[in-house]
Amino acid sequence: MLKLALRRTPPVSWLALSASCALIAATLTSPRVAAAQVDDQTRKLAHDIFQQLIEINTTDSVGNVTTAAKAMEQRLLGAGFAKEDLYLGGPKDTKENLVVRYRGTGKEKPILFIGHLDVVEARREDWTTDPFQFVEKDGFYYGRGTQDMKESDAILVTTLIRMKQEGYKPNRDLIVALTADEEGGQSNGVDWLLRNHRDLVEAEYVLNPDGGGVDLEHGKAVSVDVDATEKLYGDYQLTVTNPGGHSSLPVPDNAIYHIADALTRLQHYQFPFELNTVTRAYFERLSTIETGEKAADLRAITQATPDPAAIERLSKNPEWNSMMHTTCVATRVQGGHANNALPQMAQANVNCRILPGHSLEAIRQELIRVFDDPKVTVRYMDDAGNVSDTAPDRKQLPPPPLNPEVMAAVGKLAATMWPGTPVIPTMATGASDSVYTNAAGMPSYGVSGIALETNDVRAHGKDERLPIESFYRGVDFYYQLVKMLSGGA
Ligand SMILES: [Zn+2]
Repeated sequence: MLKLALRRTPPVSWLALSASCALIAATLTSPRVAAAQVDDQTRKLAHDIFQQLIEINTTDSVGNVTTAAKAMEQRLLGAGFAKEDLYLGGPKDTKENLVVRYRGTGKEKPILFIGHLDVVEARREDWTTDPFQFVEKDGFYYGRGTQDMKESDAILVTTLIRMKQEGYKPNRDLIVALTADEEGGQSNGVDWLLRNHRDLVEAEYVLNPDGGGVDLEHGKAVSVDVDATEKLYGDYQLTVTNPGGHSSLPVPDNAIYHIADALTRLQHYQFPFELNTVTRAYFERLSTIETGEKAADLRAITQATPDPAAIERLSKNPEWNSMMHTTCVATRVQGGHANNALPQMAQANVNCRILPGHSLEAIRQELIRVFDDPKVTVRYMDDAGNVSDTAPDRKQLPPPPLNPEVMAAVGKLAATMWPGTPVIPTMATGASDSVYTNAAGMPSYGVSGIALETNDVRAHGKDERLPIESFYRGVDFYYQLVKMLSGGA
């Protein structure tokens, strides 16, 4: 999904830290200085796969995910993967998913890696370059999907082919699923595979490079993020109907006023403060990095009885607020049918980002309590725009414990690739396909070796681009990570 929503702006003190000692430190440790440890053959392979994926349009409107899945299938077959270890399938001929299994000794249970092949729409007239041409310019690769997330799809395929060519034998099966409709559409590939071919993707845990990654400030790494849980997305449609009438004879009972009152109540409502194992660890970690009142406040909110004043002060930071609370916000309104008529209908959309452990329906009930107005009906709207009177009981499960072997491997890699940079487990305030794998009981973590400037996040936007060296360091990172997790290093 949205790396946009996944990436954090680092807290102020990190910025200050990187600004104060940046000039000297950056020349010594900046990721820009050290080139990736990738041989020329691997570099070419990764480049060619990345280019091929960018130049296959996989948007929901006119694109075709199957074309990209088939192209990767051909590459894997060409590299010596057996036909029976590849599966191509989906609910529609343009939305087929590819699952490949790299066979290991079976000593440990498999790991599943997921990557979505689809991309957000991009219009040629909005972009400086053609979004479906892979353009190399000024040290960047440009194209739709260079940040979200064809770079990581290319990295996963490159890693498999590279290990195959080496004759590497992992101590467990490594499964890669390249899938459809993460960004939208009605054929989500991860969901479909879990429902229809669970055996193909069954694993001990899941790594999803759609989340996590390395935050850079002026070329210096400030944090290596591991997304250990995420919020749940939910849209709610508010509707008020009214007989209406002539606007020269207004009455108090007005559809627009009902909607406005409901939204005003929402504006002043704060969902309860709540931490889980991941956000608690995150804030505890932060309290040792921050200083002064902020550090004291961060300590105060992680106590058994958190201090409400500290919560209120820290909630002024939108990112922290979102990590401490379910949030619901008005995102659209419409109403009325003529300038000189009392409105017969008014509607609003309220978009919620729900903390793990709370269902979509529980939040709908909470909104009804907050609005406290029987004239306002609150319905649930799914991703495809279908509206229903009640919401599903679906919830993001409470976060699984951090996986020690994953954290150790990421920590070890971070120490060599971005020395001195803290590895921070976080809760993504956005959402990704990990919601499906988590719900299926497979703990899922957002892990990526892609380093991006925090002010250059262009996922879903125009002129999406990736620093060339970030890409090859990302290739290096995943290759080493996969080996560490499968007994090879
Ligand atoms: Zn994505």
